[in-house]
Amino acid sequence: MSKIPLVDLKAQYDSIKPDIDAAIARVIANTSFIGGREVSAFEEAFAAFQGTKRCVGLASGTAALWLSLKALGVGAGDEVITTPHTFIATVEPIEEVGAVPVFVDIDPVTYNLDPARIEAAITPRTKAIMPVHLYGQMAAMDAIMETARRHNLYVIEDAAQAHGAVYQGKRAGQWGHIACFSFYPGKNLGAYGDAGAICTNDDALADKIAKLRDHGRTSKYAHDEIGFGERLDSLQAAILGAKLPHLAEWTEARRRCAAYYTQALSGLGGITTPRELPDSQAVYHIYCIAVTGDRAAVLAELKNRNIEAGIHYPIPLHLQAALAHRGGREGDFPNTEHAARSIISLPIYPELKIEQLNRVVEELADVVAALAR
Ligand SMILES: *Cc1c(COP(=O)(O)O)cnc(C)c1O
Repeated sequence: MSKIPLVDLKAQYDSIKPDIDAAIARVIANTSFIGGREVSAFEEAFAAFQGTKRCVGLASGTAALWLSLKALGVGAGDEVITTPHTFIATVEPIEEVGAVPVFVDIDPVTYNLDPARIEAAITPRTKAIMPVHLYGQMAAMDAIMETARRHNLYVIEDAAQAHGAVYQGKRAGQWGHIACFSFYPGKNLGAYGDAGAICTNDDALADKIAKLRDHGRTSKYAHDEIGFGERLDSLQAAILGAKLPHLAEWTEARRRCAAYYTQALSGLGGITTPRELPDSQAVYHIYCIAVTGDRAAVLAELKNRNIEAGIHYPIPLHLQAALAHRGGREGDFPNTEHAARSIISLPIYPELKIEQLNRVVEELADVVAALAR
């Protein structure tokens, strides 16, 4: 049996090869590798897609989070409330600007920041809340924004996994002050290298980040503040521009895969399938189930049967060695720790075929039943 991978970037390239090849050839032919029309065209198209006034293309999702904090003036001594159940890139920029990440446990149903727990973590030093729209489902932004407004806090959305996700009719960037996207190759909209962006309705904030990404330039060799080299390059912009028109259909395909899994797996004992909040449309960057049995055994058996599975994420951030100086302990965030022990990510990508979905479901059902015996 051929392997079913977690993601299949080759299948996607094969489906749009002429468009991608033409985009790459166009950039090479005109040698406009940095800035120019490819970048601005993609920025305009992605802002329209997210429904925000502005998009600024950047070198990565991590750069997007970092420059957002800098542009909002979050720095030494400030506290930023976020989730411990995410990729480490959510907190690296908080540490980098000298601020303190303050973790709040997740809602065990959605795996996202639990809005009911935020209030208790707010102190006079809190400057921002950074919700993550994990696995492609948006956090409970209505409640988060309400808390933020009451305490006059910035909201920076980590939307690295949530291109096109909708909550109560609005997308990332339409809720918070700013939303940060990654176009890492495996993301729902992926470049052929590192890339990222911010989306916002705040012109001043967008202009500030556009300047910071480009060495604080006011003209070619005049700089009125210290900036950085964190631009989205033209090749990546051209590739992203060729892919963006397909994103809505790819998202629909992911949602169909997710619905298929959920329908087929929800009757099985020992497996919890993902749930969407009311009025939420997740984009299923990851299809995450939880198992009550021996997860290591389930993973080992899936591997034996040539099905790739993952864990997003196995070590909560408060227990990461890189964050040991923050003094996190086992037991601090029980919902996060429980999730980290029991979750499994199944293969999901738009080109996944019905036979492949079927095989994952059948093998998984078989594995779980065998282990329960
Ligand atoms: C991928 C990701 C990032 C970082 O994006 P890069 O483009 O790899 O820098 C940040 N946060 C989350 C939740 C991610 O999944």
